[in-house]
Amino acid sequence: MRKTISSCKELTNNLWWSWDTEAKEIFRELSPILWERVNHNPVELLRHISNDELQARFQCCLGEKTERVAARFRSYMAETDTWAARNTPELVKNPVAYFCAEFGIHESVRIYSGGLGVLAGDHIKSASDLGINFVGITLFYKEGYFRQYLNHDGWQLEDYPLQYPESLPIEKVTGPDGKDLIISVSIAQSEVFAQAWRLKVGRATLYLLDTNIPANESHYRDICCRVYGGDQNMRINQEIVLGIGGVKLLDALGIAPAVYHMNEGHSAFLTLELLTKELAAGTPMEEAKLKVKKRCVFTTHTPVPAGHDRFSRDMMHYTFDHYLSQNGISFDDMMLLGAEDRNNPFGLFTMTVLALNFSRAANGVSKLHGEVSRQMWKNLYGAESENDVPIGHITNGVHAHSWATPTTERFWRRFTDSLDTLCSTQEAAEKILAQVSNEDLWCLRFHLKRNLIDFIHRYLANQLFHQHTYSMYPEYDSSRLAKNTLSPDVLTIGFARRFATYKRAPLIFRDLDRLNRIINHPTMPVQIIFAGKAHPHDDAGKEYIRQIVEHSRRPQFAGKIIFLENYNLGVAKRMVSGVDVWLNTPVRPMEASGTSGEKTVLNGGLNFSVLDGWWPEAYNGENGWSIGNGELFENYEEQDRFDAEKLYDVLENQIITTFYERDENNLPVKWLKKIRNAIATIAPVYNTHRMVREYAENYYLNKESN
Ligand SMILES: *Cc1c(COP(=O)(O)O)cnc(C)c1O
Repeated sequence: MRKTISSCKELTNNLWWSWDTEAKEIFRELSPILWERVNHNPVELLRHISNDELQARFQCCLGEKTERVAARFRSYMAETDTWAARNTPELVKNPVAYFCAEFGIHESVRIYSGGLGVLAGDHIKSASDLGINFVGITLFYKEGYFRQYLNHDGWQLEDYPLQYPESLPIEKVTGPDGKDLIISVSIAQSEVFAQAWRLKVGRATLYLLDTNIPANESHYRDICCRVYGGDQNMRINQEIVLGIGGVKLLDALGIAPAVYHMNEGHSAFLTLELLTKELAAGTPMEEAKLKVKKRCVFTTHTPVPAGHDRFSRDMMHYTFDHYLSQNGISFDDMMLLGAEDRNNPFGLFTMTVLALNFSRAANGVSKLHGEVSRQMWKNLYGAESENDVPIGHITNGVHAHSWATPTTERFWRRFTDSLDTLCSTQEAAEKILAQVSNEDLWCLRFHLKRNLIDFIHRYLANQLFHQHTYSMYPEYDSSRLAKNTLSPDVLTIGFARRFATYKRAPLIFRDLDRLNRIINHPTMPVQIIFAGKAHPHDDAGKEYIRQIVEHSRRPQFAGKIIFLENYNLGVAKRMVSGVDVWLNTPVRPMEASGTSGEKTVLNGGLNFSVLDGWWPEAYNGENGWSIGNGELFENYEEQDRFDAEKLYDVLENQIITTFYERDENNLPVKWLKKIRNAIATIAPVYNTHRMVREYAENYYLNKESN
């Protein structure tokens, strides 16, 4: 059994387990309670279970399953007949280096904040599945993003629990001499050192740079403390470590990337380091710039001008003066590389501009966002028409195996060999769906909703206990809680995402009387579950949370409108699988893509959204619902009024009535048809396998040099 213990530990050392249902089952079966308590972290789990216990447990039933899963893992790792080997062999030979300030791979590895990180996590998993040689570069944040809790007024408070390397599936990167590999970057007048950690994500590798080492002065040790924490100064320091440090790390490891992919502008300083290297090798400036540009691609995610990272001239001067003195680039020349006005070095330095200047190809993350980006950067290219702006689009997707719950995955496996088949083409999906009866589908929906509601009962007991709300709000008394909070028979709407104000979480509360009639309808009631974090500096976002919590405690809504604390990947998975309808109410066109709605589809959830981000591409009238038709108003108040009105109308006249319309077998036949349409038309397109294939074929392969 010692062999099985080591097989089990082998599984914990690679996040492949996080998208393998059976592997997760092993950890849960070892101890369901511990598994919850350690936030689904198998490294931590095994630290709490003795080898004696493991040996005994593996001797009975779990041993065989563990060996079976380990064998499957090993054959996955050894597979050579992959999509990339067949289609993009260049990307097997040399790796894609993918830089991102955050990666949301699993809730137990807290190095992400929101959608950008989750996208990067799903991207790296699909790159692994497709067999692309792939290295990710990010930072190791010892405090991660914050843990959210609410005080009894519903105001968000933040807590920053530490995460320890020994509790994570990471190992220190060492050099050829066996010692810790340390790289250094120049910040202001100082040399800042970073060590690196290696995290295996299937066949892909993620490197995490970490400045929290004794060689650094304490204020530099804190660069790698919090995801998007601190002020502008902290931000620029993080971005130097990520971009410049990342290039230096790859060099130190002897890795020669086929392409550098900047996922959002945070990592764009990497281009300065590549330029520095070219200049040091004696390449003249203009040629050096072209050479750097040929090796980089860039994805922008921000459709509003104010959302882009910008640094003042003073800050740039203070931070880069020493660096520039070594590499021979003049300060004004550098400022021009990030200047929105190409002839004026005296403005702000914009990271997106730097990235655009140095990428051979750039893209937005949905068709609409591509258009918005071309419009936004027209001046930079001196283009007459936005059609002349060289920014394309690749619409975001989600990693199917990560967002189908174990229940969902087992369900589809009754009808097909793999979720990948269901997500391949519309015809394939339709063929599979033809075997699924309405009873089957409705059973899946009830099962997933029951799982969510059970989860919420446990979760809320905890949340309300520390909020001290039991005594203040008697309707939340624990014995009544289980009885009165949420019902699987009721149409359930979910809304969860970052509480950025443009996402308008409180929109559905605009008319409380109307909402009351909807929620408390005698025969067709509705319940709503909210979750989401506001950035610690975003008081307007926190105010939105407070308002929703306050509404949720009104007697008419108690137990029917719920706010769950501390939205993260684990809570997201429960929510997107359990709810019937996923609501999204951004101010168009501020949602670059949005991905959470795509996560619900395989689980049988339906989207109800403003026509923004990915939804205008996917929505066909039969696979969900839209809020309005993309109408735009000059003023926010008018926009909110219009959108809220549409929201209520569609909800009352279409969504609720369809859900509650039952046939003689008590099945909502029209609803189930919508689910079938959604699965057939959305699942095969809005997944990261399709997305990463597009990146590989259209962006990672350098067609010009072929
Ligand atoms: C998917 C996801 C997001 C992004 O959701 P959007 O709808 O794209 O805003 C944010 N946070 C978590 C935890 C997620 O799982």
